[in-house]
Amino acid sequence: MEISVIQKVFEIIEGSKDLVVHIQRELVRRPAISPQNGGLGEREKMNYIRELLENLSPFHIVQIDAPDRRADGGFRPNLLADYGNPVTKRRIVILSHADIVPPGDLNLWASDPFELQVQGDSLVGRGVEDNNHGFVSSYIALKAILESGAELKNRVTLAVVSDEETGSDYGLKYVLNTKPELFSKEDLIVVPDGGNEEGTMVEVAEKSMLWLKIEIKGRQCHASTPHKGINALEAMAGFICELKALREKYDQENPLFSPPRTTIEPTKVLANVPNINTVPGLQVFYLDSRILPEQELDHIIASLREIAEKVSKGYGVEVWLEPVLKQKAAPPTPPESPVVKALLKAIEEVLGLKGRPQGIGGGTVAAFFREKGYPAAVWCTSEDTAHQPNESCKISTILRDAKVFAYLYLL
Ligand SMILES: [Zn+2]
Repeated sequence: MEISVIQKVFEIIEGSKDLVVHIQRELVRRPAISPQNGGLGEREKMNYIRELLENLSPFHIVQIDAPDRRADGGFRPNLLADYGNPVTKRRIVILSHADIVPPGDLNLWASDPFELQVQGDSLVGRGVEDNNHGFVSSYIALKAILESGAELKNRVTLAVVSDEETGSDYGLKYVLNTKPELFSKEDLIVVPDGGNEEGTMVEVAEKSMLWLKIEIKGRQCHASTPHKGINALEAMAGFICELKALREKYDQENPLFSPPRTTIEPTKVLANVPNINTVPGLQVFYLDSRILPEQELDHIIASLREIAEKVSKGYGVEVWLEPVLKQKAAPPTPPESPVVKALLKAIEEVLGLKGRPQGIGGGTVAAFFREKGYPAAVWCTSEDTAHQPNESCKISTILRDAKVFAYLYLL
């Protein structure tokens, strides 16, 4: 890569602050909340995004509308715009999502979540980070290259999908199921929707997920005569105490992940009795478990059933165990795959930092690519403000990520 070319592109990116603010403002004022969360969907926001993408003169643009009667227009839009070289095999795909999560309790926001606030280098508003940040940085990078007059020898695809926050049935999953020909296994696919504050984490793997509901039935009675009942709360405590031994049983380490082990956490508890002087006869609680891909979900469920048996006998209660979510991890993207190598090189050259392929416990749309055999990597610089009140994102971070994308496009 010619140094003078990349320097010119970087200069244009550095001069794009006002444009970043302008686009973020326009995106934030078009709340794309999915109908599952009580909104009208992504149509208005996607129309604006389409306009931006069309203004950069793609050689091909395709919109895939997933029918959804609850949404504005009766569909959920998904967009792919192609730039650069139409015949080359080397294609870089950056896929971000248009939908946002609802703002939550408005009292926790210092300002209107749908009106962009600019505070020095910080932008505040619902969606600025998740996932406007990803779209804006990948867009600014491409725009800067096109403006610089540099030749784009690769094919670059900017993809924006709907429904990421609510399962992707009308988003990436729909696109992959109805139009699989839009992607190729040779594509370098980056999902800019997760990362760390330094911009060094390249996410290549996710753990399996297992959520369980556990119901313990004892017998309610007056707290002054506990011998007449069976305390379900005490039995729940007994169950939870057994989890330590269970974690030790499944304590294999995989250094790709942080944390490197399977996690098993008791989380939600339903209210039992409203008063202090009653022994509760029913106790319902939940476990959230993130399991290393090499471990079997069914083995862990079987071990939990053994605990249920032990608690049932030990406390004289009935214990029911029911999986609420059971999702086997997609095969990881190999750390030596071309997309990971290219990202690591761009991180090193542009940021002067050493990137690291890593696995996480959460879930991203990259899993849908991986399930179908497309190696996808998740990367951006992220301060982890997604889904929070006063969600924020730094202009400088967007520009920094844009430089990494520009380098990747020109690689
Ligand atoms: Zn997101």
